[in-house]
Amino acid sequence: MKQKYDIVIIGGGMVGASLACSLLPACEEQELNIAVIEAFALPDNGSLEYQPSYDSRATALAYGSRTLYEKMGVWNALKTHVTPIKQIHVSDRGHFGVTRLNAEQEGVPALGYVVENQWLGRVLLERLQQPDAARVDFICPASVVDIETGQHSMDVLVEQQGTTHRIASELVVMADGGRSALREKMGISYAYTTYEQHAVIANISPDREHQSVAYERFTDTGPMALLPLENDGSHHRCGLVWTIPDDQIDEIMALSDQDFIARLHERFGYRAGNFIKVGERHAYPLKLVLAEEQVRRGLVVLGNAAHALHPIAGQGYNLALRGVVALADKLLEARKQKVSLGDLSVLQAFYEQQRLDQQRTIGFSDQTMKLFSNANPLLAIGRNVGLQLMDICPPARTLFARSAMGLDMPAPELK
Ligand SMILES: Cc1cc2nc3c(=O)[nH]c(=O)nc-3n(C[C@H](O)[C@H](O)[C@H](O)COP(=O)(O)OP(=O)(O)OC[C@H]3O[C@@H](n4cnc5c(N)ncnc54)[C@H](O)[C@@H]3O)c2cc1C
Repeated sequence: MKQKYDIVIIGGGMVGASLACSLLPACEEQELNIAVIEAFALPDNGSLEYQPSYDSRATALAYGSRTLYEKMGVWNALKTHVTPIKQIHVSDRGHFGVTRLNAEQEGVPALGYVVENQWLGRVLLERLQQPDAARVDFICPASVVDIETGQHSMDVLVEQQGTTHRIASELVVMADGGRSALREKMGISYAYTTYEQHAVIANISPDREHQSVAYERFTDTGPMALLPLENDGSHHRCGLVWTIPDDQIDEIMALSDQDFIARLHERFGYRAGNFIKVGERHAYPLKLVLAEEQVRRGLVVLGNAAHALHPIAGQGYNLALRGVVALADKLLEARKQKVSLGDLSVLQAFYEQQRLDQQRTIGFSDQTMKLFSNANPLLAIGRNVGLQLMDICPPARTLFARSAMGLDMPAPELK
């Protein structure tokens, strides 16, 4: 472990590792030394078992995120195990409204791609271990226990194998996730609203091909999504995200596989076929979290540590990734102009850009969630007329599709 870096990234999860990959191509030319500090160890060679960031979930990457991974130079590896979303079918249980978004009609090869988090982790972490990544030190297992603000730099206190090390850095990026203990320690306040729901995720095998269709279904007890996944050899597979009110979660998690499938059919119907097998189930409590202070001199809060949103619209990670690339852009520009990476004006310029994106994306997910969870009959008629109109009105559909694909605002550049 060196005693000084230009950038210290706390957390080697999906966001921290993506930031390191974004900066990597410019590291040599700009003599940029980066440390990524991760609490969990890297897995043994060939194993897919990574730290919790890369758990058994699957993530829907918007089409715009593909472009960002292309710019980082990891898309070619990533694409070998992603499933394209060619169609999205949106419906409201017990009502008439349906909208179908179609990649061909929108003039794109796919509306998005589903990637299993374990695969994403493997691709990102392998990229950071290639010979041209010598300026990026991936330090693990090691935990950052404190951050001190000095006059000209930041000091990061790292605990590894019972010893505490001090690392100085121009910039510290907190990508330590939604349960960030450092956020509290640094006195960074945040707004917090619970949805009083859990997301149950599981892999489901239908008795027929998913044909690259993703389903988004709103019900009176919460929305659910079914994402197309790669077959596992003998079975077709889809990734289920099912929101369940908190007071029903224990009962749903305790159901036998057979009863779980029966209950799922009752809510979801049979449009994706008969479900014949369900994998291990995991439950995540759902909340909307937004850090009120995301930049300080020498410090940036990124990813889930900055914002966590309802997963149903599949926007959380896509938003975070746009933030990653926007930050990398600003840092590389500052470096070229010989401005300190921790300079507050550099970080504020990044945050201003992010703030607009966060407001729009969080507003979209949160309002959609609330609108479709509302049992008021007048609202139900309104939203179903809306869905139906969108289905028959191409410009409205395109507007909605571009927003879902992350193409409704200018993308960060990564020059
Ligand atoms: C059920 C569910 C489904 C989702 N589906 C989608 C989707 O389809 N599309 C989408 O865009 N988003 C989705 N999301 C959101 C997405 O999962 C998050 O945006 C993403 O996980 C955020 O990653 P992160 O790296 O910020 O945080 P994390 O994944 O939590 O990573 C933080 C990392 O920091 C490390 N760490 C923590 N503290 C320290 C410390 N002190 N020192 C060192 N290391 C530390 C941890 O070990 C961890 O590896 C979903 C979320 C949920 C809950």
